[in-house]
Amino acid sequence: MKITFLGTSHGVPSGDRFCTAMMIESGSSVYLIDAGAPVADLLLRYGKSISDLRAVFTTHAHTDHINGIFPLVNLMNWYFTDSQADFYITEQPVIDAWKNLNLALGSALSEERIRFHKVEDLNVYEDENIKIQYFPTQHMFPRPSYAILVTEGDKRVLFSGDFSNRLSRQDVPAILSEEPLDAFVCELAHFSLAELTPYLEACKAKSVYFNHVYPLKKYEDIEAIKGSYPFPIFTPADGDSFCL
Ligand SMILES: [Zn+2]
Ligand SMILES: [Zn+2]
Repeated sequence: MKITFLGTSHGVPSGDRFCTAMMIESGSSVYLIDAGAPVADLLLRYGKSISDLRAVFTTHAHTDHINGIFPLVNLMNWYFTDSQADFYITEQPVIDAWKNLNLALGSALSEERIRFHKVEDLNVYEDENIKIQYFPTQHMFPRPSYAILVTEGDKRVLFSGDFSNRLSRQDVPAILSEEPLDAFVCELAHFSLAELTPYLEACKAKSVYFNHVYPLKKYEDIEAIKGSYPFPIFTPADGDSFCL
């Protein structure tokens, strides 16, 4: 699978960073993990067609993780009519709001092609390319939020979503220290590297990628710990990608 960082910013965009979105290419399909960036535009910019998109998985209903979805589904509805996709959303009122907004703008969303699912079961999705499992976190407690594990064959990547402030709710999924993952894509806006250190020391992932980094001084902190762990640590920019 190929993973491209469409947006690496935290809660707000900046001149060179869109908000959080990752594109996964597997087989001939495209998937998104979070969609805080203008994902419809970016799919086209990266040479994909909207009909390549198979499913969108969101970690939680904060705007910096979902704001690209309404423009995407609106375009799918009236223009890219050969497209269809499944959208996994953590809270029903968000789904209802998008449906109502499209109605207010003049038409109902096609429920046959634009399939919204409220996340209920943690084994969220499986097709011939990938499997998606959700792990509850406490970022928005008591509202739902999740980390997402993507499995393709024997390759596995854990996406953190957002964790609790200062990791005070100890919501880093245990799988990070219990099983050998190929990559861990971790946010770094709600806690310090020092607060993450015990989890990095126990981490069994073969590589770690930091995104959603804020404040920007933390990029210096990350540089300082590179080489201190058995796995390489990366700080991708928008547009960077890696393959597993
Ligand atoms: Zn966020
Ligand atoms: Zn958040």
